[in-house]
Amino acid sequence: MREDDRLVWWLGGHVDVYAVFIYSSTLGSSINGASVSVLRCLQERYHGDIFYTNAGCTLVALNPFKPVPYLYCPELMKDYHVAPQLQKLKPHIFTVGEQTYRNVKSLLEPVNQSIIVSGESGAGKTWTSRCLMKFYATVANPSASQESHETVERIEKRVLDSNPVMEAFGNACTLRNSNSSRFGKYIQLQLNRAQQMTGASIQTYLLEKTRVAYQAPLERNFHIFYQIAKGASSRERLEWHLPEGAAFYWLPNSERTLEEDCFEVTRDAMLHLGIDHSMQNNIFKVLAGLLHLGNVHFADSEDESQVCQPQEDAKCCVATAASLLQIPHEELLDTLQVRRISAGKQRQVFRKPCSRAECETRRDCLAKATYGRLFDWLVSVINGSICTEPSSWTNFIGLLDVYGFECFPNNNLEQLCINYANEKLQQHFVAHYLRAQQEEYAAEGLEWSFISYQDNQSCLDLIEGNPVSICSLINEECRLNRLSNSIQLQTRIEKALSSNASLSRNKLSKEPNFIISHYAGPVQYQIEGMVEKNKDPVPPELTQLLQHSQDSLLQKLFPSQEKEQNDPLSQSRAPVITVVSKFKGSLEQLMQVLHSTTPHYIRCIKPNSQGQAKKFQTKEVLSQLEACGIVETVHISAAGFPIRVSFQSFLERYALLRKSCPPQPSPSSRLPSSSPTRKASGQQLTSEEDAMPQSLIRDILLTLPHSVQTATVLRDHPEARLAPGPIHCGRTKVFMTDSMLELLEHWRVRTLNKCARCIQFCWRRHQHRKLEKQRWAATLLQAATRSWLTRKRIQRLHAAATSIKRAWRKWRAKMDSLVSIELDNVEESCVSRVPEPPLSTTLPWPPRSTVQLWPLGLVLSNSPVGVTGMRRNLSLQACLQIPCHSNTYKVEATQHDQAGITSIRALPQVRKSWGGGGGTTTYVNNNNM
Ligand code: ADP
Repeated sequence: MREDDRLVWWLGGHVDVYAVFIYSSTLGSSINGASVSVLRCLQERYHGDIFYTNAGCTLVALNPFKPVPYLYCPELMKDYHVAPQLQKLKPHIFTVGEQTYRNVKSLLEPVNQSIIVSGESGAGKTWTSRCLMKFYATVANPSASQESHETVERIEKRVLDSNPVMEAFGNACTLRNSNSSRFGKYIQLQLNRAQQMTGASIQTYLLEKTRVAYQAPLERNFHIFYQIAKGASSRERLEWHLPEGAAFYWLPNSERTLEEDCFEVTRDAMLHLGIDHSMQNNIFKVLAGLLHLGNVHFADSEDESQVCQPQEDAKCCVATAASLLQIPHEELLDTLQVRRISAGKQRQVFRKPCSRAECETRRDCLAKATYGRLFDWLVSVINGSICTEPSSWTNFIGLLDVYGFECFPNNNLEQLCINYANEKLQQHFVAHYLRAQQEEYAAEGLEWSFISYQDNQSCLDLIEGNPVSICSLINEECRLNRLSNSIQLQTRIEKALSSNASLSRNKLSKEPNFIISHYAGPVQYQIEGMVEKNKDPVPPELTQLLQHSQDSLLQKLFPSQEKEQNDPLSQSRAPVITVVSKFKGSLEQLMQVLHSTTPHYIRCIKPNSQGQAKKFQTKEVLSQLEACGIVETVHISAAGFPIRVSFQSFLERYALLRKSCPPQPSPSSRLPSSSPTRKASGQQLTSEEDAMPQSLIRDILLTLPHSVQTATVLRDHPEARLAPGPIHCGRTKVFMTDSMLELLEHWRVRTLNKCARCIQFCWRRHQHRKLEKQRWAATLLQAATRSWLTRKRIQRLHAAATSIKRAWRKWRAKMDSLVSIELDNVEESCVSRVPEPPLSTTLPWPPRSTVQLWPLGLVLSNSPVGVTGMRRNLSLQACLQIPCHSNTYKVEATQHDQAGITSIRALPQVRKSWGGGGGTTTYVNNNNM
């Protein structure tokens, strides 16, 4: 059986990756083999322009990297929305969207739904979330009052408008994706009792703020910076000090124009979200200020007591940045150059000039803090415009667009947080999948537990566990506020967590590091700079500086109420809020939300790293399948009964076993008989009993070898729970192990071969018999035809002979009469001279004269063709036995020799005797012959 055929069989025409797990396991292959099977299935589908595939409880979405308008048109949305049985439609994100919508409608607990869209950068998460939002905007449309209709349309528009704004401020062009989301987001679409969308809210996670001040080679800053630099009007350029073609350090690769660089779209969306032109102007002015700040570079100071001065060409940039941020120029410079330290019991404040590197770190810190707060403020504004009163909605559908598992050559705190989030989500996914599996087994009456299955808890313990974990150790470093030493931290981590099998270290690397064995593979993290990043220190003087700004937006972003906290004196006593602790807190919140909802998973896969259509790189995809937990699903599936088939499918496929070979009752069989007493008494099974799928399946299994039968367990059997066999018959499904499927397949192939041979034999016999019959019929036909033809011919000959005879007799009679008349005349004239022959002499019959005459016609007709003239006359004379040189006869020919002879006339002579024949006068009129 070909793998593809089996695929289609299991899925009744819909290829499903889940089935591939089954196949791979049926082939007795390792999990690696399973991944390869999944991969091959996805590859075939991708080349056939099928981008969505079901994989157990997950939808795998392959990025087409080309526009596929028919896949997302409103008509298709409607088709999915009105479909009576969603499972019968092709896998699609709309299936997931519609399923969640129906779940909310059904009000079955948990009513709230979550869709977790994951995948690596460029895999299509943003696209998928956007399409889902459009889907909800289309289907969650009320048919009720005009007023509520308008409200929903307004909310829909705002929810959709939040996308370009969030993407402009939170997405950037990376090596892997030109529109990569640099933050995680959870969008809650709020629905009222009538399942109409009444509002939405957005929660964001871990914006990659460092990108504002540092962009890796060939990568870009957030899109919004390029949008303002390229799309500003000339008046705005003047106001924001952004002359055309101006160079900015924090605007690398600006020569690359992307479709995301569309300023107008962002502006329009902001306007719809309630951010008016003047506020927009304010925002862009601050962003322009940050761009100018990026051009401020410092020169080394002469000694430590001296402050570092900005480089010559950067002096004007300080002034421009200060004017755009509306903060005093000197104050800005001073804050960047000098650090304030509080010390002593009285918390005296000292001023310490910063080194050049410190100055630049403070500059970056100022930019990151400003951008981070601006982003959060934007999210709150968007939320303000799309959120509704809590009383106006009852349920929600959450869309989590989260960054996928990351592993780069250098991984730091950002990757640790991202991979930590992915581990958490993976655990949630595995728990959900296991629970779903367990529930299915229970519902089918199968007592089975995945006790042998190991999830990623040990890895999570390593990252976030209590009391000691990597997170707690890094946080401790920040809390103790000691000079960070990465080698010491490495030793501490190793010492405290050496018992955890998920931790190791690259001993060959000179850099202090640790390796975590994640579910998706090992990742090496460098310790250098991790503690600093975790502190994400915003020196209080920087915050104070921004609080002093005259700019209304900055005043909102840095309210003066924070003064207390930013006071260097009070800050030293406040608990340290690290990046990791903040992230952990929001992740826990998110997990709580996810636990309280019904989860749905969409795994986005990038078929190639170049973003090209129709290109499927197997290595790339395989690593993503591992990273997104699809391979884990194979593990789980293989740990239980990987094959689950409905009775109907089972019977459709294997009923032939029962029909072809009658069940072999086995004395050792543990299979319960459907009605043993009746069978024993020789009674026929009723049609109802016969139709019972379980009894049919039992009969099928009885056709298998005894060893299999003994290991088979049916739900009804009292011993069913003693030991799980290779097959289990549940309430609606048959559960099998891979080996059982193989065996069934083997027997099916054997039976089919037997049947095929039987059919061939019967067919050949039938053909042979048919041929024989045809031959016999042909012989009969031939004989009949021949006899008919012969009869016909003979009849014709008879008729011809009869007519010849008749004509001959007529002619002869006529000739005889002519001859006798002529002879009578001659005799009369010669009677006196010629003595009468003696009466006793017998006249020859026919008379000689006649004999010589009658063959003439035949002679003429048979005379040689082509012989003419004299030769013809001679041959005729010869036929008539007329001597050639006789002067007794005169032969008169017609003008045309071929036409015939007019007459052969015997010249009148005195007859001497009867025997010579010479005294006979013969007229032959041959004209009519
Ligand atoms: P992510 O959010 O995962 O980083 P995106 O959603 O931005 O990735 O997708 C990256 C690019 O891939 C998009 O800009 C788009 O061009 C393309 N893309 C993704 N999904 C689709 C799709 N379903 N159809 C067509 N193009 C797509």
